[in-house]
Amino acid sequence: MITRSELSVQTINDFGCWQEQLAGAVTSPELLLSMLQLSTKLLPPALKACQEFPLRVPHAYINRMELGNPNDPLLRQVLPIGEECEHIEGFGLDPLAEQSQNPTDGVIHKYHGRLLLIVGGSCAVNCRFCFRRHFPYQDNRLDRDSWNSAMEYIRSDTSIKEVILSGGDPLASNDRRLEKIVTELNHISHVETLRIHTRLPVVIPDRVTDDLINWFAKKRLQPVMVIHANHANEIDESVREATFRLKQAGVTLLNQAVLLKGINDSPSALIQLGDALFKAGVLPYYLHLLDPVHGAAHFDVPEAKAKSLIKEVMDSSPGYLVPKLVREIPGRPGKTWIS
Ligand SMILES: *Cc1c(COP(=O)(O)O)cnc(C)c1O
Ligand code: SF4
Repeated sequence: MITRSELSVQTINDFGCWQEQLAGAVTSPELLLSMLQLSTKLLPPALKACQEFPLRVPHAYINRMELGNPNDPLLRQVLPIGEECEHIEGFGLDPLAEQSQNPTDGVIHKYHGRLLLIVGGSCAVNCRFCFRRHFPYQDNRLDRDSWNSAMEYIRSDTSIKEVILSGGDPLASNDRRLEKIVTELNHISHVETLRIHTRLPVVIPDRVTDDLINWFAKKRLQPVMVIHANHANEIDESVREATFRLKQAGVTLLNQAVLLKGINDSPSALIQLGDALFKAGVLPYYLHLLDPVHGAAHFDVPEAKAKSLIKEVMDSSPGYLVPKLVREIPGRPGKTWIS
């Protein structure tokens, strides 16, 4: 039997520490195609779509893809394709109208009692369906100047019970920076819950370090982590090892997924995802209908089909493994439940 420490030594030997893995993510479509033994015919459209939104995918995630399969459900989430360049009516640049919802730089406060702190703009992986692929993070992240006003904003509104670290991916930032942010939040007594929205434990499981667990789960604030996996194949032993450590530290673990045509738009794919999450100690939370962002229209699943899929999942799963099907409608005080 492999012990936990041997396991992490093994992963470090394979891919390097998490910072190296983040920095060493594959950004060249040519390299990705050759690693997966895929046809060079896919290269010209990939290069074209990359100009709008670059390719970015870490080795630890590529490792879970099937060689020679252009329809691999993980590959399809990251490989730029020609359809992204088509302009489709109704698919725009700021689908959630977030650019008019920040009271101060680095803060998005739309819902009662909770707000998003935009900790950093980068992600470990660039998901082709991302609703923020055109979001101007450069102008809207917490730097030295905006930091004080963001904290002042949270301090002065006692209705804020929960702070959600978001991004980009907040865990792309280093533990020292995050610890500093969380230490300040710990001092604001009306804040009770600290939530992190992150895809890193899925794409680079080695990101779940002891330091992370220390600043996140061993402080006053109640820790919640919402990870993001869309397909059962994303959850392998390395992910389970990371989520178990979080769970042991008392973190409530949830998953949000996006309903994606050709990736998880079948009852069996959704049921398998729920099972794989449960085996990793994670419960399904939201299943989002795609936000109508330019470049992602080919992933869209019509609402009627989405409803019937969820019905089939409900008919053959325990209630706690059925995600809430939601859509985000600009101006509403929360996510809109579809079922
Ligand atoms: C989704 C979201 C939240 C969190 O909503 P929950 O329903 O609590 O998960 C908070 N703020 C913004 C701006 C969001 O988009
Ligand atoms: S990790 Fe999240 S924010 Fe980053 S590209 Fe993927 S979906 Fe978007």
